[in-house]
Amino acid sequence: MLLSELAANEELKNEIALSMQNRSLPHAIIIEGEKGSGKRSLAGIIAKYGVCTSQGARPCGVCPGCIKAEGNIHPDIVTADGNNSGELNIEAVRRIRTDAYIKPNEAPNKVYILLNCERMLPAAQNAFLKVLEEPPQNVMFIMTALSAANLLQTVRSRSRIMTLYPPSVEEAVEVLKRLSPDTPAEAAEQAALEAGGNIGVSLELIASGGEEERKTAEEILRAVPLTTEYPLMLLTNGIAKNRTFAIGVLDRLSSLCAECVRASLGATDASSTAKDIAKAFTRKRLMKLQNSILRARNVLNINVNLNFYSTWLCAVLRTE
Ligand SMILES: [Zn+2]
Repeated sequence: MLLSELAANEELKNEIALSMQNRSLPHAIIIEGEKGSGKRSLAGIIAKYGVCTSQGARPCGVCPGCIKAEGNIHPDIVTADGNNSGELNIEAVRRIRTDAYIKPNEAPNKVYILLNCERMLPAAQNAFLKVLEEPPQNVMFIMTALSAANLLQTVRSRSRIMTLYPPSVEEAVEVLKRLSPDTPAEAAEQAALEAGGNIGVSLELIASGGEEERKTAEEILRAVPLTTEYPLMLLTNGIAKNRTFAIGVLDRLSSLCAECVRASLGATDASSTAKDIAKAFTRKRLMKLQNSILRARNVLNINVNLNFYSTWLCAVLRTE
């Protein structure tokens, strides 16, 4: 990842780019920002700058140093995470301090990425302070924290503080399209909206998404053949909550119904759910249902009123 690929934060990125150009990034940096704001990505970019061997702009992204950094296998980049027990306690910090005086293996600089520093106890921070006060040559310390205010004033005053802000929802959607190209645009927009533009949280939402849609699709197919219309009515009303959800449910409904058709044709690799649901239908009915679902999914491409849609969908699915 290069600086230009980091979402939003244009002013900070320009400032860092200028420092990189002048080779004037300080030896101690605190990157602060909420969870998912890109702290780890920025730390990685700065670390790459530290180990890049290009004579031109650093990080170049193509030299052996940059490639090893990208693959997390550079011997001169050491990462410790305050969230992992023992990685940033006083003994660990003392070890880092000693290690910092040993020359880099191959890079111009030795880089320490210290994550979640808000978890560092004051005693450990004080131990760290000694090396910040008299830093060895060619060493960079990149700390991340939810807020720099979580660190001792003495540590803060010896570091450059870089603050990351989450991007706007529109900016986040653009980044998500790049990071997660397989995610449908509607799902990316929905995730960015729910996460308030926070990229990390949006990605988590995308990763965990789909479970509710899958469950609802299964419930709908089970409700279709029931003698009373009421359970299906409740379910189709439920999907009218929002368009993205409705689209997600219909997509899954379509694939589940196709699987039921295959199960009714005797496909042995169909899921047990599909085999079970298929028992309640004739094959002819399932095939008709499959067409109805495809039609219903296509209707969602135009901006229909979802309240009318839910009633219509219920009727269409019930039609024998
Ligand atoms: Zn490079």
